Amino acid sequence: MDFQMTPRQIQLKQRAISWTEQMYQYELECEMNNGLTAEQHEKIKHSVIDHDLAAINMPEEWGGAGLSVLEHAIVSEEVGKLTGALWDTLWRPANALKACTPAQREEYLIPEIRGERRDAVAVTEPQAGSDPQNLRTTATRVGNDYVINGEKWFVTVGDAADFIITLCSVDGAPTMFLIDKDLPGVSVKRVPRYTHTFVYEHPEFIFDNVRVGADKILGEIGQGYELTRDWFVEERIMIAARTIGAAERATLLAAEWAREREQFGQPIVNYQLVQNMLAKNAVDIMTNRVLTYQIAWEADQGMDRKMLNAKAAVIKLGASEASNRCVDNALQIFGGRGYMRENPVERLWRELRVDRIWEGTSEIQTLIVGNEIAKRGAEGLLSYAGAVRR
Ligand SMILES: Cc1cc2nc3c(=O)[nH]c(=O)nc-3n(C[C@H](O)[C@H](O)[C@H](O)COP(=O)(O)OP(=O)(O)OC[C@H]3O[C@@H](n4cnc5c(N)ncnc54)[C@H](O)[C@@H]3O)c2cc1C
Repeated sequence: MDFQMTPRQIQLKQRAISWTEQMYQYELECEMNNGLTAEQHEKIKHSVIDHDLAAINMPEEWGGAGLSVLEHAIVSEEVGKLTGALWDTLWRPANALKACTPAQREEYLIPEIRGERRDAVAVTEPQAGSDPQNLRTTATRVGNDYVINGEKWFVTVGDAADFIITLCSVDGAPTMFLIDKDLPGVSVKRVPRYTHTFVYEHPEFIFDNVRVGADKILGEIGQGYELTRDWFVEERIMIAARTIGAAERATLLAAEWAREREQFGQPIVNYQLVQNMLAKNAVDIMTNRVLTYQIAWEADQGMDRKMLNAKAAVIKLGASEASNRCVDNALQIFGGRGYMRENPVERLWRELRVDRIWEGTSEIQTLIVGNEIAKRGAEGLLSYAGAVRR
């Protein structure tokens, strides 16, 4: 067993660190103005391209960086340190777009890889959250076209995106459609404010008799949940990596502060109650980081999809819950200064909360793990990398 990073991985990590460090300058402005200017977005875009970090999840043959899942996780851990979700300016096309036809690829995916287009994914609806089977958005066949009606909520990047990958029901069959945002009938209902500050918005969309051709179906009719699941698996591993990166940053800042800050005549790090919080953070970060790497590596080995789904749930659940504990401890160590929005730890504390909710809540991740054990036993899940069933 060799736990050492390869020279390629080290070089990649350095590139991700370098980009992340360049992005720190935008954090406060993003926080205070609830986003960045078009000019700043343009500069960031060039920086992503210069660091060779555009579309890291897409194959090189289509112009992506062609990283493995493990390499992708290494980058995610670094960029996850950023506040304001600036990590999301490093665009990664939804992996459902791998199901594009050659014509769709030319129209949507390749321009997105180049940074000229941007997708948003719309699955959630007012009635369909944890249970996407409750889907009410319909795509009804009319001649050669489909007419789409429905409402989608929490559409992340919906403001910056120019097309929306939308889950619709075609006579009960869950199906993804590529919907250009400028089509007649597509409108924004509301742009709510959330606990976190996010460099993009999460608008609610209405689709009112939106007409698209059959050439806008992504994948096949009925393949909608499958494509959604693939995105969940990738994104759950990346949530784990990002939240661990965030917890690392918060803990490093808190440890430094604890060594500097004196109360009752000595640095607060001397108090065991403060050490307790730092020690617990170290345990949470170290254990979840290696498990994230392991599961990302297993994904690269072509692990059975059901098992990977369960393992991605384990690490999404473990890391997001642990990282929330860590940022809470880090904030506590800063005392009142930890409650100031100008402190990155305060921002991380607010921003990590959603990682226990989106891409499937902690309760849903627990159910996925429990179902795997109930259906196939615990052996596969508990077996160590390399000794897994494929
Ligand atoms: C900021 C933000 C951005 C988002 N971005 C997107 C996006 O880009 N695209 C998109 O499609 N969606 C997005 N979402 C939606 C997100 O995935 C959902 O919010 C999430 O899946 C939970 O659904 P819900 O909010 O309807 O909660 P509900 O499903 O109503 O759940 C409410 C509570 O009930 C619990 N619960 C539900 N079912 C069970 C059960 N069977 N057993 C035990 N407990 C249960 C849940 O865990 C939760 O605690 C986003 C959400 C947020 C907050």
